[in-house]
Amino acid sequence: MVLKHLLATQNVGPAMAKVLCVLYDDPTVGYPTAYARDDLPQVPGYPGGQTLPTPRGLGFTPGQLLGSVTGALGLREYLESQGHTLVVTSDKDGADSVFDRELVDADIVVSQPFWPAYLTAERIARAPRLKLAITAGIGSDHVDLDAAIEHGITVAEVTHSNSISVAEHVVMMILSLVRNYLPSHQVVLDGGWNIADCVARAYDLEGMHVGTVAAGRIGAAVLRRLAPFDVHLHYTDRHRLPRAVEDGLGLVFHESAADMVPFCDVVTINAPLHPETEGLFDDELIGAMKRGAYLINTARARIADRDAVVRALESGQLAGYAGDVWFPQPAPADHPWRTMPHHGMTPHISGSTLSAQARYAAGTREILENWFAGEPIRDEYLIVDGGKLAGAGAHSYSTNR
Ligand code: NDP
Repeated sequence: MVLKHLLATQNVGPAMAKVLCVLYDDPTVGYPTAYARDDLPQVPGYPGGQTLPTPRGLGFTPGQLLGSVTGALGLREYLESQGHTLVVTSDKDGADSVFDRELVDADIVVSQPFWPAYLTAERIARAPRLKLAITAGIGSDHVDLDAAIEHGITVAEVTHSNSISVAEHVVMMILSLVRNYLPSHQVVLDGGWNIADCVARAYDLEGMHVGTVAAGRIGAAVLRRLAPFDVHLHYTDRHRLPRAVEDGLGLVFHESAADMVPFCDVVTINAPLHPETEGLFDDELIGAMKRGAYLINTARARIADRDAVVRALESGQLAGYAGDVWFPQPAPADHPWRTMPHHGMTPHISGSTLSAQARYAAGTREILENWFAGEPIRDEYLIVDGGKLAGAGAHSYSTNR
């Protein structure tokens, strides 16, 4: 009876499971045989005291490319030596994709937000064995959480694994837009030297008002990193930060994004995509920003209205937009964010540095080891479990239910 209950509440994986892993393609020149650097710096732990992943084994050398098909998140030897089946593919979209075909008898799906395997309600309905969906990284909005709840699927992500990676990218993008870095670099590539072309849109960040929508792991890390630039810092969040943190960084709290944005020269979005945040930056909210403000979105594309962003750049309401998140991913060749003026977009890369990959691959292995051993997955990794939002998911996400 006890065993039956344990099985019913999951977290006891089948003895031989099929793990379906959706990863991005290898580099166009082939899987690397050498790397730009010889090692990764040792990071002692995460801010706030959370420990780094603690798998029993690793299966890769930190610094290797793990997020692409050949890298296989370093999981192949571990899974196959335990008798499990590992299927790795980058072919994820459309009814005849490898992902679609292999999903029908998969027990576990692993996917990264950079190359998301969209686990829609329809797909979940066609995957009767599916019990665990792991996000190798952070942000599980590519999984229909309502459907996961309904079908008793556990959703877990490797919380904190790439938060600092993204925070560094945000700071880079803020400086890049404000200082007009990319167009100036293009002048060099083009063989030119017109200083005025470069500086006619270049400013200092010093003295500007910078606000973050959400001050969770990434948002707070961005605030801490920006404080030494002598800027004025603002934030909005569902929960207020401790008074000591506010005072230490000189933060101004606002009840909502609408309250905050009129004060800001730069706004950075660091909230999850869920029903409360979808479409938040529409014509009205962007229109409430200061003329010539910069908007940085490394959270999720659909938090901003795609066409409203284009309109605001064209009219000059926004002086720049940058980020690495698109919808859908990969973005089609004619996506308007590729060609809109004054943008600093990259593909979805900020959370997938080699440094981050080492952490989220280790975290993925830790989750799998726990699952197969019938041990609890760390609470901070859980998004959905036991038919409801759980752990980190209960804190930061909402559903349509
Ligand atoms: P956290 O869970 O640490 O922080 C998210 C914060 O958002 C929480 O403080 C939460 O509030 C807040 N929040 C949720 N809803 C709202 C809302 N409606 N208004 C204001 N604040 C809100 O997550 P991370 O900081 O680690 O990551 C944030 C997001 O960044 C991820 O969900 C993901 O989408 C994205 N991301 C992008 C990556 C990339 O490569 N570009 C990589 C990693 C993450 P509270 O908890 O107080 O309720």
